[in-house]
Amino acid sequence: MSECNDRRAERNRRVVPCNGCRACCHDAVWLLERWGDVPAEYDHVIDGWGAPALRRREDGSCVYLGSGGCTIWSRAPFLCRRFDCRSFYLRLTQEQREAALRRSANAEIFAAARRLLGE
Ligand code: SF4
Ligand code: SF4
Repeated sequence: MSECNDRRAERNRRVVPCNGCRACCHDAVWLLERWGDVPAEYDHVIDGWGAPALRRREDGSCVYLGSGGCTIWSRAPFLCRRFDCRSFYLRLTQEQREAALRRSANAEIFAAARRLLGE
């Protein structure tokens, strides 16, 4: 990624007080070319719908998640830079949350959102 793109990525990053949570680094991250991601620059797979997504380990964690956090933070994909578990949680109805909880990754993400929202 160029220096210019790095600066743009930094500007577009959501400010979320993650405090080392990393729950959303255990969920699917699609690479969005229309938002500037270049799939060839990442270790990725093509999912069942033909879309590129970051490769994940058997435990569900992103291959770029290290012991100290994201190892590619300065060039993390668009979805990583923009994701805010609080808005993800708040925009869903109760019914949608219940449906989303069928995926275990969402339980951790919702728990993080509730912690940050003080619920
Ligand atoms: S789930 Fe929320 S608090 Fe946890 S890493 Fe993701 S955005 Fe940060
Ligand atoms: S690229 Fe970094 S921020 Fe994005 S899911 Fe992987 S470890 Fe998390």
